[in-house]
Amino acid sequence: MAAVTVRQAYRFALDPSPAQERALWSHAGAARFAWNWGLAKCKERHAAEGKWYGAGDLHKLWNAAKKADPGLAWWDQNSKCCYQEAFRDLDRALSEFIKSKKGKRKGKRHGFPKFKKRRKCKDSFRVTIGPMRCSGHIVTLPRLGAIRTHESTRKLARRIGNGTARILSATVSRTAQRWFVSFTVETERLIPDTHARPGSLIGIDLGVKTLLTGVDDQGNVVAVAGPKPLKASLRKLRRVGRAHSRKTRGSANRRKSAAKLARIHARIANLRADAVQKATTALAARYETIVAEDLNVAAMTRNRNLARVVADQGFGTVRRMLGYKTIWNGGRLIVADRWYPSSKTCSGCGTVKAKLALAERTYRCDDCGLVLDRDVNAAINLRNLAASGSERLNACGGTVRPGTAGHVLLNQVPGTAHAGKTGTAAGQPVADAPVFTYAATAMHPVDGSCGAGDRVRWNATSRTGSSAV
Ligand SMILES: [Zn+2]
Repeated sequence: MAAVTVRQAYRFALDPSPAQERALWSHAGAARFAWNWGLAKCKERHAAEGKWYGAGDLHKLWNAAKKADPGLAWWDQNSKCCYQEAFRDLDRALSEFIKSKKGKRKGKRHGFPKFKKRRKCKDSFRVTIGPMRCSGHIVTLPRLGAIRTHESTRKLARRIGNGTARILSATVSRTAQRWFVSFTVETERLIPDTHARPGSLIGIDLGVKTLLTGVDDQGNVVAVAGPKPLKASLRKLRRVGRAHSRKTRGSANRRKSAAKLARIHARIANLRADAVQKATTALAARYETIVAEDLNVAAMTRNRNLARVVADQGFGTVRRMLGYKTIWNGGRLIVADRWYPSSKTCSGCGTVKAKLALAERTYRCDDCGLVLDRDVNAAINLRNLAASGSERLNACGGTVRPGTAGHVLLNQVPGTAHAGKTGTAAGQPVADAPVFTYAATAMHPVDGSCGAGDRVRWNATSRTGSSAV
């Protein structure tokens, strides 16, 4: 067991009193004002001197302005943190914009920060200084005092009580008429030196039809059906959306229907997040090594056919969660190279197809006659990548376990090992065998409790090996 300090978020829905809700609106408004005020100052300076202000400079300017300008006398109704943190956010947004422009930032392009508009922007603010506590159904925040929470905060309160957690900041935000507080917490996590099931291995393919399809070292097929909540709620969404579009702009009715629409969207997001959390937790607890693809999610969401499915199931989120959850369980995540042809390679003979349309849900090999579900085939290839190329993976990926200094930060994929361009590490050729049994490649001793054919607890379908062809 090694104790590792990690940052985690604890989020609670709030049940504020009407007076407290007014205070929350006021704080969110103050943060928005500060952002816009700072952005205007930065634009002014950039026009004159060709550079912006940093967060510290803006804070100093603000402190001078709020005393000099009687129009800003309302500032002390809100915690001074929310101004300061808005300047920090602006500072970060400007530097992300520069990084993105210079091509030093992964993912979607980051545009120049915009002015925030009331009712259009996300209502949120952050506090970092002052009393931040929680106990029972109460959270205490600076300036705002004790606010009731919708659910108990005991899990966090207990950790703070026994000294294994410390609150760093609190972000309050509103989603669909409901206010939430999210504490950023530094916690100590005990990470086992070895996984509970040493040697267990699974290759997973993040699919379109299912959330993910995996094939483990025993040959079990693990299919986690995606919640596809957007599809399920699409009819309702369409109906409410149509009704919304008929309402007169700027009317009270339009505002009401917008709120209704927002609640449906929020519910969908919650369903999705829940399914992804459960699937990744179960996988990381059960398998020591998980091999996944490095999907270029940003490029996939640009493909309009894939965009909705991808955005709906949050592939990037799945990968990120697998990253830290494997570490927390003493396992590891191996990410196959983005160009590794996991879908196009035959898991039986290793032949790589030149073309494979997304609509082809079954893989048919022209060389050895293998017929297999497309996602299952891809998952086997990914699993075999770890089995056959393990030395290579270690050489490229370096250490995959965090040391005591291993700092796992929020919103990162910590300690992910990247496989090199392992074109040679495709499925091991099975000599002229049209029938492919995939229970034979276990590379480590596997504990006997999980034999081939075990039904996997959380999934809908689980098939045994040798069911191919
Ligand atoms: Zn083949």
